[in-house]
Amino acid sequence: MARTDAIVLGAGIVGTSIALHLAKRGLAVALVDRAGVGEQTSFGNAGIIEGNTIFPPAFPTDFGALARIALKRAGEANYHFPFLPQIAPWLLAFRAASRPRHLVETARLIRPFYARAAAEHEALLAESGGAHFLRKTGWLKVYRSERGFKALQAEFDLAAQFGLRLQTLDTAGAQALEPSLNPVFAHAVFWPQAASVSNPLGVTRSYAARFAKLGGVTVSGDARSLHRAGNRWRVETNEGGVDAPEVVVALGPWAPDLLNTLGLKLPLMVKRGYHRHFRSDGNAALSRPVLDAGVGYVITPMEMGIRMTTGIEFAARDAAPSPVQFDRIMPKARELFPLGERADDKTWLGSRPCFPDSRPVIGPAPGFAGLWLAIGHAHWGLTLGPATGRMIAEMMAGEAPFCDPAPYRAERFL
Ligand SMILES: Cc1cc2nc3c(=O)[nH]c(=O)nc-3n(C[C@H](O)[C@H](O)[C@H](O)COP(=O)(O)OP(=O)(O)OC[C@H]3O[C@@H](n4cnc5c(N)ncnc54)[C@H](O)[C@@H]3O)c2cc1C
Repeated sequence: MARTDAIVLGAGIVGTSIALHLAKRGLAVALVDRAGVGEQTSFGNAGIIEGNTIFPPAFPTDFGALARIALKRAGEANYHFPFLPQIAPWLLAFRAASRPRHLVETARLIRPFYARAAAEHEALLAESGGAHFLRKTGWLKVYRSERGFKALQAEFDLAAQFGLRLQTLDTAGAQALEPSLNPVFAHAVFWPQAASVSNPLGVTRSYAARFAKLGGVTVSGDARSLHRAGNRWRVETNEGGVDAPEVVVALGPWAPDLLNTLGLKLPLMVKRGYHRHFRSDGNAALSRPVLDAGVGYVITPMEMGIRMTTGIEFAARDAAPSPVQFDRIMPKARELFPLGERADDKTWLGSRPCFPDSRPVIGPAPGFAGLWLAIGHAHWGLTLGPATGRMIAEMMAGEAPFCDPAPYRAERFL
């Protein structure tokens, strides 16, 4: 292979966006994946570009919610009992990071990064010919209980401080936006600045096609073959060895498979999640993603039908699928929206790569010259892919990053 300036390992939305941003800066880049571009976690998400995120998902404090989860009756969470001892230290750290004071600190830290998320996507979609995937129709969250709605006050206060727009709506107000929703909820919140895409795989593929047009090369190979070769990094691919002075690890939930062998142990766990597609009954339709907050699922209009994504499942990344949350969710979901027949015959399973403080790690790998990390985007990797690509490309090029990278340093765990 000709001269390569940088290798990017992992062609999900994060790695592909990084490769594209590096290629835009004139670097010769090899993007390496063992599967097809965008076919793993980045394939199956709810398609929401959520630049409005204020608080990251938090460990529940409500006793009722905890009891429902423990008794395996919750739509929002499931767990594999034998996995609990393994994940217990991570869960304790996650619970500590979920204390109200820490959540507010996190909200302030992550704001500048999230604030650029939608604009960065829009720019890449425009230059990649993928603008047709983008819907700037916001995100609607519906609340069935007074308690769930009242608990949002802290979020509303911070939204006002951050200058984020939102509208609180009653049932009729929400139905004016989404006429097919049934009145099984009393309150809704409309976040007009959120966007969504109608095909997340199509988005990543558009970015990969743009990368190729700029001279970038995508090759099939196993990232675990990465090793030092003199003062360069080398990875074995189906087209022979590729070496470069700099390499970016963007392996999503598989990052530990490589980093552990290098001796870099970071507390990356997964929150698994599922999706299924449905047709709508009759003329029912949706124009935007809808979160049924107390029940714990999202329905989003996609090119493939209405995609329903579940909340989280704590289980080993490679354990067999156990999509029991659908049994808990479906009766409630059918109450809210007239879902028809299944539009697919397979339930998709993906793994959100998560650090306990809900912030990704983006930046140089401590102690490894030329090794960079872009992992752990958790619930918001689709949202943050292009902003991550820009931030890390700016750092690698020695430019001032568009926002302070300090909250994303790996050192916070070492
Ligand atoms: C149910 C669900 C709903 C979600 N909804 C949203 C949403 O609405 N909005 C949002 O912003 N985010 C959402 N997310 C999160 C988002 O999908 C992820 O954060 C994001 O896809 C992570 O992207 P990534 O590029 O880091 O990982 P991936 O997309 O998994 O990419 C990693 C790549 O590494 C490759 N790889 C792994 N191991 C090797 C190896 N040894 N050699 C070579 N290649 C390897 C894989 O093949 C893969 O292509 C959701 C996630 C789930 C599960």
